[in-house]
Amino acid sequence: MDRDTRERDTRLKLAVQKSGRLTDPSLDMLARCGLKLSRGKDQLMGFGENMPLDVLFVRDDDIPDLVQEDVCDLGLVGLNVIEEKRLALAARGIRATFECLRLLDFGRCRLSIAVPEGAEWSGAASLAGKRIATTYPNLLAQFLARQGVAAQIVTLSGAVEIAPRLGRADAICDLVSTGSTLAANHLEEVETVLESHAVLIRTPVALAPVKTEWVERLLMRIEGVQQVRESKYIMLHAPRSALAEIRRLLPGSESPTIIPLEGHPDKVAIHAVCRENVFWETLESLKRAGASALLVLPVEKMLA
Ligand code: ATP
Ligand code: ZN
Repeated sequence: MDRDTRERDTRLKLAVQKSGRLTDPSLDMLARCGLKLSRGKDQLMGFGENMPLDVLFVRDDDIPDLVQEDVCDLGLVGLNVIEEKRLALAARGIRATFECLRLLDFGRCRLSIAVPEGAEWSGAASLAGKRIATTYPNLLAQFLARQGVAAQIVTLSGAVEIAPRLGRADAICDLVSTGSTLAANHLEEVETVLESHAVLIRTPVALAPVKTEWVERLLMRIEGVQQVRESKYIMLHAPRSALAEIRRLLPGSESPTIIPLEGHPDKVAIHAVCRENVFWETLESLKRAGASALLVLPVEKMLA
C-alpha cells in the first residue's frame, strides 16, 4: 500500500467553505471540538495537528459533489445548498447519496419569496404568471409545484435582489437572515420556501474503522459544543423552605445538586447546569424567592 492510500484510510477529509458566511462559524466549531489546524502554503488545505482530520477549503456549492463523489468524507454546508443539489441531481435521474449527520446551530437563514414593497399579495397564488428571479431554481420549482402555481423562473448566478429594479423579474426567491438586504432594495418578504442552517454531511461510502471512530468522536464533541453554547452553571444559597419554588425557576435544569451549608440548618447551596441562557430577570425572580449569593458561570465543556 503506498503512502497516499494509507493516509486515505486513516485521515478524515472535511470540506469547509473557503471564504464566506460559513467559514468562521465552521472553523470556530472545529476549534471548540479541539481541532488544531495548520494551514498549508496554498491555503487550500488545513492539516489537523492533533486529530487525523484535514480540512479542504472550497466553494460551498462544490461541497455536496465532493462528498457525494467520496473526494471528501465529510462536509459542512447549508441545508439550502444540499436540498437544491438533491433536486438538481434528481432532475438528472441521479439519487443524492450524501447523508446528513447532524444539524448545526449556525448558518441560520431562510429561502424566501420577496416582492416589491406595496405589491399586492394574497398568498402564493399571487405569483401566477409572474417572473421570479433566483439562484435556487430547483427549490423554487418544487415550491411552485406544491402550491399549484405556474410562474416563470429566472435563474441568475447572483445579485438576485436587484432583479426587480432592473425589470428582470416581478419577485425574487433568495436567502434572508435579518431582512436588511431586502429592506435596502425595497422588497418585502412574503413567504418562506425553506428554513435553513448548516449541516454536517458524510460520504455514502463505508469508512475504515479508524475513520468511523473519529466521526463518532467528532459528533460527540459537536453535541457537547452545541449544548454548552447556551448553558450556564449557576450557584446560589436558598432557604430550605423555598427549595421547590427555586427549582421551578431554574431554567432548563434537570437535577440540581443540593448541598447542606455548615452552620445554617435552614439553608442549602444549590448548584445546577442550566441548558438555557440565564437572564437578569431570572436572577431577580430567584432573589425574590429567597435566593442569595447568586453566581452564574459559563460552561466550557460538557460530555453526557
Ligand atoms: P461561495 O463563494 O462559497 O459560493 P456564496 O456566496 O455562495 O459563497 P455565502 O453568501 O457565503 O455563499 O453563504 C454561504 C451560506 O451561508 C449560504 O448558503 C447559507 O446556507 C448561509 N447563510 C446564512 N445567512 C445567509 C444570508 N443572509 N444570506 C446568504 N446566505 C446565508
Ligand atoms: Zn456558493
